[in-house]
Amino acid sequence: MIHKDTSNIKVKIGLVFLLWLLLIGVSFGWNLHQARMARSQIAIETARAFFQQILLTRRWNARHGGIYVPITAQTQPNPYLKVADRDLRISDTLTLTKVNPAYMTRQLAELAKEENNIQFHITSRMPVRPENYADDWETIALLAFENGIKDIGEFIGTSDMQRYRYMAVLMTEKPCLQCHAEQGYQLGDVRGGISITLPYVMPLPWRSLTITHAGLAIVGGLLILIMGNLLKRSYNQLRQQAAFDALTSIPNRRYFIENLIEEFRRGRRERTPLSLVICDIDNFKSYNDNFGHQAGDGCLRTVAQTLSDNLQRGGDFCARYGGEEFVVVLPNTSINNAVQVAEKMREAVANLNMCHPASTFGIVTISMGVAMDDVRNPDHETLIRHADGALYRAKETGRNRVEAHYPTLTTVQPHQRPKSRHSKRHHHH
Ligand code: GH3
Ligand code: MG
Ligand code: MG
Repeated sequence: MIHKDTSNIKVKIGLVFLLWLLLIGVSFGWNLHQARMARSQIAIETARAFFQQILLTRRWNARHGGIYVPITAQTQPNPYLKVADRDLRISDTLTLTKVNPAYMTRQLAELAKEENNIQFHITSRMPVRPENYADDWETIALLAFENGIKDIGEFIGTSDMQRYRYMAVLMTEKPCLQCHAEQGYQLGDVRGGISITLPYVMPLPWRSLTITHAGLAIVGGLLILIMGNLLKRSYNQLRQQAAFDALTSIPNRRYFIENLIEEFRRGRRERTPLSLVICDIDNFKSYNDNFGHQAGDGCLRTVAQTLSDNLQRGGDFCARYGGEEFVVVLPNTSINNAVQVAEKMREAVANLNMCHPASTFGIVTISMGVAMDDVRNPDHETLIRHADGALYRAKETGRNRVEAHYPTLTTVQPHQRPKSRHSKRHHHH
């Protein structure tokens, strides 16, 4: 009878759940972003430290204007180094050759590649040695250096074979000019750069992030669903309590008024008759006086049960109006049919044969007033008033009976009005 209005709550629980998933998603993205930033930071700091080492050795070399080392199979004289005294013959078994910063860097690079798998090389857009021409990536970097950027780095390769490529600027310093002045370089010019490729790259914490966030999503989602269900259940319970009478378990006055208004509007809209019955237990005060309040409560329950047992259609409902009064709402029912329903209920209560010595009938009986909505009624309260008026007449004329309010059939013509008013006034005198 009472429709459970929980769809709204379900939708809200769903929305909270979606919001939670969204939050988890945002957190996942944020954590991944942080991890990426940290990884970039570590990679660039590692590359910078490496670059500083190389720069230091180069400065040391340049400050000496080159270093003499013995000529061996691996260390042959540098053909690109065109200076006097490049090779020094010391003895029959020892000849020294000059190693400039560029040559030294190349040899260090070979060593680093062998021992640490770190690739680096010195590069320039205008190299003395043709192999040192910048590739595309390096050219872009060198152009960036011209605009004042000191170093750049980025991850390259696929996720399982990722490397970090880094490049830092080499400025023209004073010792450089010993060899590079003839190329037109001046102090402070971008001379080129050192490009470094680090093999080891910290992996992103995809796994751990996925596991923790999936866990959070599941636990939080379950909590939301469980709490939402508890909420829904207590909401339904509250709604039930708000709509039903605690003593008789049938709908209460509040439910009655809300639904009467609804049926009243529907009746008007669909032009269907709406009937209302008001019932009142006869001489109930003396029933209480005879048998006690608890027995009175039991009687109220029995009467309420009997009334609702005698409802016929799905849309019909009865409610406790207050005290020992009940109402029956009969949508789409004419007054004659409503009187029949009421008569049946009255009979059913009388047939219970509940002993009531103080009553003229010796048993518990009810009186009933029936009314039907009339389009001339301004509101549903008029319908209640009419049914109540009929009930009053039922009480007046002996109780244990059904009375109906029939609308006055006098159709008042506009021109008759002054006349009737006149005659009324006449009666007064
Ligand atoms: P009438 O035939 O004119 O209706 O007489 P009556 O005694 O039924 O009417 P009255 O309104 O004088 O008394 C109604 C009584 O209903 C008063 C009160 O003691 C009793 N009553 C109202 N609510 C309850 C209730 O919840 N439980 C019990 N046991 N009695 C109630
Ligand atoms: Mg009463
Ligand atoms: Mg009564």
